[in-house]
Amino acid sequence: MAARLTGGCTCGAVRYETDADVEFSFNCHCRKCQRATGTGHASAFALPVDAVKITGEIREYKGSSDAGADTYSGFCPTCGAPLISRTDRFPERLYFHAATLDDPSVFQPGFVVFAEHAQPWDPPAPENKRED
Ligand SMILES: [Zn+2]
Ligand SMILES: [Zn+2]
Repeated sequence: MAARLTGGCTCGAVRYETDADVEFSFNCHCRKCQRATGTGHASAFALPVDAVKITGEIREYKGSSDAGADTYSGFCPTCGAPLISRTDRFPERLYFHAATLDDPSVFQPGFVVFAEHAQPWDPPAPENKRED
């Protein structure tokens, strides 16, 4: 992905930018991502938390992962756009929803997680499938 990444929510109240390299990118078909996005999967990429500058207020919904870790789904309180997720399991990392990028075309999913929860109307892209 490009060296400099910028993005934000629908209304523009929340913005983020980074010069860091993306650690990894993926499509997640878990039920939590389905509900958060309102569709079949979330497309997301990971960045080191220290390397991202975020402006604007983000509210978080606290939940828990299948592994029992606390998870936080961040969204803009004005427009409701889902933006950033994080988990206590990997506190050094933030996960960004790909479509919040100013140029979402640079996103390249490297693998699929929770493919077993994929809906029949949104099958995982075969080129992204990975055995883990
Ligand atoms: Zn917003
Ligand atoms: Zn998920």
